[in-house]
Amino acid sequence: MNKRTNIPQGSILRRISLFFKMIQRTTDDYYFATDIDENLITVSANMVNDFEVPSECFYDMDRYWTPLIHPDDLDGFYESMKIPESRKANIGHDYEYRVKNRKGDYVWVRCRGQYAFDTRTDKPFLFLGCIKKLAQRNHADELTGLLNKYQFEHAVKVALNRYRVDGTGGALMVLGIDNFKIVNETYNRHYGDEVLKLAAKMISDVLPAGVMLYKMDGDEFALVIQDVDTEKVEDIYGSIQKSFARPHNIDGKQFFCTVSCGTVLFPQAGKDYLVLHKHAEAALDLAKKDGKNKNCIFSKENYNRWIRSLSMRDDLRVSIERGCEGFSLFYQPQVSAKENRIIGAEALLRWRNPKGRMVSPMEFIRILEETKMIIPVGHWIFETAVKQCKEWQEINPDMSISINLSYEQIKDASFKDFVVDCLKRYEIAPEQIVLELTESTIVSDWSNINRQFDDFRKLGIRIAMDDFGTGYSSLAYLKNLSCDIVKIDRAFVTHITEKDNAFDRRLVGVTVDLCHSVNIKCCIEGVETEEEYALLRDICHADCIQGYLFGRPESPENFELKYFKGESTSAE
Ligand code: C2E
Ligand code: CA
Ligand code: CA
Repeated sequence: MNKRTNIPQGSILRRISLFFKMIQRTTDDYYFATDIDENLITVSANMVNDFEVPSECFYDMDRYWTPLIHPDDLDGFYESMKIPESRKANIGHDYEYRVKNRKGDYVWVRCRGQYAFDTRTDKPFLFLGCIKKLAQRNHADELTGLLNKYQFEHAVKVALNRYRVDGTGGALMVLGIDNFKIVNETYNRHYGDEVLKLAAKMISDVLPAGVMLYKMDGDEFALVIQDVDTEKVEDIYGSIQKSFARPHNIDGKQFFCTVSCGTVLFPQAGKDYLVLHKHAEAALDLAKKDGKNKNCIFSKENYNRWIRSLSMRDDLRVSIERGCEGFSLFYQPQVSAKENRIIGAEALLRWRNPKGRMVSPMEFIRILEETKMIIPVGHWIFETAVKQCKEWQEINPDMSISINLSYEQIKDASFKDFVVDCLKRYEIAPEQIVLELTESTIVSDWSNINRQFDDFRKLGIRIAMDDFGTGYSSLAYLKNLSCDIVKIDRAFVTHITEKDNAFDRRLVGVTVDLCHSVNIKCCIEGVETEEEYALLRDICHADCIQGYLFGRPESPENFELKYFKGESTSAE
């Protein structure tokens, strides 16, 4: 007989149960005590009231309580309930999980318990504890239903306690949705919320059993996992990355995004929650700075790099305040594939920091974009490039200049007026200007982007889709965006001449054909060898070629020396 309301005579649970009755009036928490040898449990009356347990005293927890626990939380529950081998190994039980109430809803609870040990046998005989309802509003994230940052902090502290007892280390992983700000701005808050809900589910679904996901501020999630090494961490991140690699549907709109991750291992990188959390956030920031869709594992070296990026932000600000001091534009030739002659140049931004070191655009452009400093710098870039175009017009009248645009600039309403004014001041025909926008930065807001593009195109300025093929749905972009030129990314060229790579050759060829069929010109980037050039020209029918074969980006002076003073375009 499993059901029993009377606690056997002489059982220690008798007195405990009496105590529960007394304390009940002072609290809403639930109490329980388990006689381990008998597998007999007594619980406070409110627990019988709220949950499907037979009475205040029953045998066999696995029969009554365990089935009420949310299946996703079960493995972690079992893990945390493991009976300690000895008093020394007793770290107590502390676990947050969802349990079904009598209404059939899952509620979050935090269960804390302690084992009492028999001093003679060094075996636990009693398990006693308290279950607290985690008020939805205060503790769980209302949107995703996940536990929040305070619970995360608690979970990390529990993990650190375990480390102190038995030496088991672990990792904190902080995940952030890439370009979430753009998702919110492009659609609306409601859509952004749906993205967060979906992301919470996508991440939770691929986590190892028993690992809990927490919702942090904004678009961030976090988890803490014990007994892992870097390989296991990479595995976990790899499966998250994989599940984000395909598009999903939200409100009938196709949505895709990537997730970056910052990981910190303990005890290697610290033994204190605040330190670990700060380091994980720094690692996440670095993963984003390094191009997003990455996991960055914290190291001293990485941390120093992060600190440098903060001072870079200040240095950039100073440069801008001093009229874009330290910035310059380099130019890389663009060559007509058929005629092997220069038809244009792409302006590429360079920056020398106050200490005189050249910094890679990959490093500083993201900072300019994040801080919106790209807007004043973008004006400077445009004006400088147009001025250059004017100078070179004398030498090569139909040469065009391609200028890179960040998404932030497209959104800036004053940019178009500035463009019109600039072209007028320097007497440059709009046809000589190409604006390049990277495919991967555009989310899916075709109509808004197209409106902006159309405005420029109506003026006569051409639009190029940059880095084509690196985003998620390149063909959809081709179908939806109105542009004049597609720039096929270097990634497609790198292996194109390899014997067994017929696929890449066909892919480039078919893309070029497709573009031509709708009157779009194709420029291929990153061409480094004559062999690649010949193949792209003859087999793939590319219109324009850009790459180290014809020249690296050069200062205006060197560009003139090299290309306008009678030297050949081809790198022989
Ligand atoms: P991007 O627009 O795709 O520019 C082409 C990049 O590929 C340049 O790197 C160029 O130096 C490099 N490249 C060109 N040919 C070859 C080649 O044959 N082989 C290899 N390995 N690389 C080649 P860079 O100058 O470092 O610029 C990196 C990125 O920074 C640019 O990629 C662009 O996204 C961004 N950027 C540069 N200037 C500006 C700017 O003025 N405004 C904005 N918003 N972004 C810029
Ligand atoms: Ca470009
Ligand atoms: Ca490009």
